[in-house]
Amino acid sequence: MYMGLKDVRYTLSAWTELIPESEIRRLLKFTVKYYFAGGKPGILPLETFAKILEEVSQEQLKLLQEKKYFEVINQYNYEKTAGYDPLRKVVAKRLRERDNIPLPSDDEEAKNKVIITTGSQQSLFILGDILIDPGDVVITPAPAYLGFLGPMMRFGARIVTVPSDDKGIIPEYVEEAIKKSIETFKRVPDIVYVIPDSDNPKGTTLPMNRRKRLYEIAEENKILLVEDAAYRDIQFQKPLPPIKSFDKENRWVAYLRTTSKEAAVFRIGYCVIPDELIDNFLKSKGYIDLTSPTINQVILKVYYEKYIDKVLPETIRGYERRCKVMTKTMDEHFPEGFRTDPTGGFFVWWESANKTFNASVFLEKVAIPNDVSYVPGAAFYPLPQFGYMYDPDKREIVPLKEIPENAMRLSYSYLPENLIEEGIIKLGKLLSEHLR
Ligand code: PMP
Repeated sequence: MYMGLKDVRYTLSAWTELIPESEIRRLLKFTVKYYFAGGKPGILPLETFAKILEEVSQEQLKLLQEKKYFEVINQYNYEKTAGYDPLRKVVAKRLRERDNIPLPSDDEEAKNKVIITTGSQQSLFILGDILIDPGDVVITPAPAYLGFLGPMMRFGARIVTVPSDDKGIIPEYVEEAIKKSIETFKRVPDIVYVIPDSDNPKGTTLPMNRRKRLYEIAEENKILLVEDAAYRDIQFQKPLPPIKSFDKENRWVAYLRTTSKEAAVFRIGYCVIPDELIDNFLKSKGYIDLTSPTINQVILKVYYEKYIDKVLPETIRGYERRCKVMTKTMDEHFPEGFRTDPTGGFFVWWESANKTFNASVFLEKVAIPNDVSYVPGAAFYPLPQFGYMYDPDKREIVPLKEIPENAMRLSYSYLPENLIEEGIIKLGKLLSEHLR
């Protein structure tokens, strides 16, 4: 019976009630002059894209004149759930040739191993959807990308965080955490999650020996290692081999890439996942979106085929300059603390030497009212009801009780150098006054 609007009451799903709005999304609502919060790309090949759009539309007009109606309508249509084949092919070739990703030497065959997604965020969600039941275990570095933590919490995972240092996650602890997870929870973890090239949030890069060791750990324990390579294209130095390059039989590593950081935010990601998971991955993706936007894939195919190598070096140099300005200005103006030293990506991580400093409170009460934003470090830890940590002193998995509050992630990606310098000087001053 219709009860009238005021009587309507929606009963939300358990996870919706349980998990609050992500900190980043909440913060993106504030408009500030000195924006160091989300990892928004601020250097994009805009002229190149204007040119590509023109090229694509000229080509379409030509096809229409030639009465090749279906060739054009298909560019605005539903595509295969796995993606637009010409883009899959170009991307597969690039992955094999530049990053040594084990893919068949025949591009036609190789393309079948590449899945296009609606952003790599979608891959993270899908992997949770197909692998995680409530109570299952996943292993992440502490701190970890909150876009991975969110979906894992939504599927009810136990998230075991493992200590990281200035080079990233520590493989010995990953290995011990796996053993302890079997003892403590009677479960082999389903996923080990890492960002080897310029981590989000810490900006650290895993050295070669750790990459190799992590692969061996995944293989020895038969666990899926999710290698999130979101910042692979924004590396200031020649990047190290991906962990995926060791996975010759395509069994233990899901390799996730995105076009969002270096091309434009078209919501197009791509991945190479173990053969065994492909069908279920596509089943889940079909339920979510049926298809990723086709016209965006058409545009990106032209970019990846013809333009990326011409414009990427300049994009990378631009981010490197921004990074240098941020870190140098931090060193000159921030109070005592520790910062990471990024060699790529979008982020620097800073921890105050004063352990009582609360970066979340400071953000709301001091930074945002003064036109500065960043993401407090606590946002990169799971909620207490899902969170555990491997404690190397006790050599045990213990509930994650106290989340460090004295850290922040600063993004240098969005603003030009002069605003980065001004904003960091301002933030440094505010922090110094506060921490006096
Ligand atoms: N992984 C990491 C580490 C990221 O930083 C991001 C973007 N913040 C993503 C995945 C998702 O990117 P997209 O969905 O735009 O491909």
